[in-house]
Amino acid sequence: SITKQQILQWFENCHLVLTEQRDYLTQLDTDIGDGDHGLNMQRGFSKVIEKLPTVEDKDIGTILKTVGMTLLSQVGGASGPLYGTFFIKGAQSAAGKENLSAAELYQCIKSGVEGIVSRGKAEIGDKTMCDVWLPLLQDLADADEQTAISDLLESAVKKSQEYLAATIPLVARKGRASYLAERSAGHQDPGATSTCYILQALYDAVK
Ligand code: ADP
Ligand code: MG
Ligand code: MG
Repeated sequence: SITKQQILQWFENCHLVLTEQRDYLTQLDTDIGDGDHGLNMQRGFSKVIEKLPTVEDKDIGTILKTVGMTLLSQVGGASGPLYGTFFIKGAQSAAGKENLSAAELYQCIKSGVEGIVSRGKAEIGDKTMCDVWLPLLQDLADADEQTAISDLLESAVKKSQEYLAATIPLVARKGRASYLAERSAGHQDPGATSTCYILQALYDAVK
């Protein structure tokens, strides 16, 4: 199972990797968007890190909800509400819990991704973060109760790199990149990239 301490470590890791990759994410978003994705993510998770001490003694549900509310209120653009919704919806499956089994973690991620889809209405192939989240959900669903979370996430991280690369040739049909139509092809999606970092940060917290 994954412990509350590991969940807290996940967000510390998110903050570190998104700070490290801020300029890269901004460059990707400059190519096909408005060039703020790196700053959005870095700012969002630095606010999250400021908030975490106020909830570190609470259950995982409360922690996830606080992360989501912080991203929702502090990050502008498309990604703030989408990632905010991910954690707020995920929190519902973790209410009152001090640790999560592989099945419970899957349920959190599933609820979170459903939240992103119902808010953003993106489908597979639209060149968004959903091009990583949706196939990943399929992979995670294959796990049973015997599967160790670290093994599950290790393979999820590997596969996420393939899903990310697959966004490059796509033409964007959602978000700002869709304004570029065909010219959005040939560029990696920024939000799909930050999703991979968030997943890597989770794996790093449990490996
Ligand atoms: P903005 O485009 O408003 O400046 P960001 O740059 O922070 O916001 O985030 C852009 C990313 O958000 C895109 O790369 C894409 O992955 C994601 N995105 C945009 N619109 C949607 C949507 N409707 N559904 C899912 N993801 C989306
Ligand atoms: Mg942007
Ligand atoms: Mg913007």
